[in-house]
Amino acid sequence: MKKIYEAIKRERAYKHAMSLLSWDLETAATKDSIEGISETMGVLAELQYLNFINDEFKKELYSLDIDKLNEIEKKIVKVIKEEKFEKLSKIPVEEFSKFEALISKASSAWEIAKKENRYELFKDYLKEIFETTKKFIKYRGYKGHPYSVLLDDFEKGLDVETCDKFFDEIRKELVPFALKVLKKNNSKIEKIKNKLKEIPVEKQKLMSNSLIKLVDFNRDRGYLAESEHPFTTFFNNKDVRFTTHYYKDDILSNIYSVIHELGHAIYEQQVDDEFDKTTILAGGSTMGMHEAQSRFYENLIGKNKAFMKSLSKRIKELYEIDLSEEELYLLVNEVKRQFIRIEADELTYPIHVMIRYEIEKEIFENLDTEVDVDKLPDKWNDLYEKYLGIRPNTYSLGILQDSHWSGAAIGYFPAYAIGSAYASQIYAAMNKNFDVESAIREENIKEINKFLKEKIHRYGFSKEPKELLQLACKEDFNPTYYINYLKNKFLEIYGGLDE
Ligand code: ZN
Repeated sequence: MKKIYEAIKRERAYKHAMSLLSWDLETAATKDSIEGISETMGVLAELQYLNFINDEFKKELYSLDIDKLNEIEKKIVKVIKEEKFEKLSKIPVEEFSKFEALISKASSAWEIAKKENRYELFKDYLKEIFETTKKFIKYRGYKGHPYSVLLDDFEKGLDVETCDKFFDEIRKELVPFALKVLKKNNSKIEKIKNKLKEIPVEKQKLMSNSLIKLVDFNRDRGYLAESEHPFTTFFNNKDVRFTTHYYKDDILSNIYSVIHELGHAIYEQQVDDEFDKTTILAGGSTMGMHEAQSRFYENLIGKNKAFMKSLSKRIKELYEIDLSEEELYLLVNEVKRQFIRIEADELTYPIHVMIRYEIEKEIFENLDTEVDVDKLPDKWNDLYEKYLGIRPNTYSLGILQDSHWSGAAIGYFPAYAIGSAYASQIYAAMNKNFDVESAIREENIKEINKFLKEKIHRYGFSKEPKELLQLACKEDFNPTYYINYLKNKFLEIYGGLDE
């Protein structure tokens, strides 16, 4: 294992340098510095690639006597084999680099197409991305539905069967319910909104600090900066950084961005040193499990009735806006018809994701049928009309809104909704151990952090979502918690739901 550990040490160093450069690019670097940074990144990326992908290392890795390794070493070897060799090695190198070049062109084409609302600038790239991805699935091989290969890339262990069951529930239970809620008159919320006013960025920064303290983020091990789109990054568990974006005319945006990112950040800070120091098992588990943590803090804590006392107190003190706990609860839980996924409320969010799932699943159902990209915008719009009762009238509000497909991130979307469902299931399990609402009301977020650390966070990347759910909830993934949670919560808020 000595040579493996040496390579891991180098991998961690390359990653550290590259993540720090990306962080700089997003938060502080000036416009003219981009070229220099990109060049350095290119060099480091090549070194990082060659560090594992070379004959000598491969020989070493595949000649190890697995039975003589301890559990962590076994896991390390498994992850390197899967991530570095098995996925990529079956795709011919020329085709892979051609695809990489296609993606970078497609990404800039998508940006312009979205800005100018011109789907025709992007659709040929989209077709090529879909067709190449199909070809790669054939190279890699598959059992069952071909789309499961892509789902597993982003959420280990996730397949079409599980997703179908999950989204069937959403379609059957949540869609009719959400449509009823959307018909309700929201005049009360409009009145509450009249109380809001512009708040200078300096004051909003005080709010961020107050929330950081409340959630018990360790400031000796990271800090908050600003960027266009909020995100979290980490170099190790002692250096976890996150960002927010301040809008003078929208006080809730910063509050909920900060709480969301704090969920990601607390996760990273709580990974055990055992995994963090010397292995590639540092960092959170899958993307869905990470989103489960961020959405736990944002929604299950931050939009919980029990949190309104803390929040209204802070809004009064720092912003001099007087909102009762009831008013604030209505305001942060407003359900709206809208086109954009990332702005969606908690109730309609999984429906936005389901629409993308239906489209992707159909495209990858049969690898030999060519996708008709001319028909996709209409398909997208039809589904929005069917499930949310609205029809986008521009491409930018419809099919061009998300960047994922331009970067060939296909199979990524479901993890967002699955993550939210994990969060509800984890909440229910936590509640069996202690009264979570009381902890929130008493601002005892430490107790919540502690539970999550013990059951999930400390294991880093060493366990898959399935194992983590077993540890935290003592059962497999069960979407019922999520559906019930959403229905109960919004039934209470929106009353009897008569037509
Ligand atoms: Zn997130």
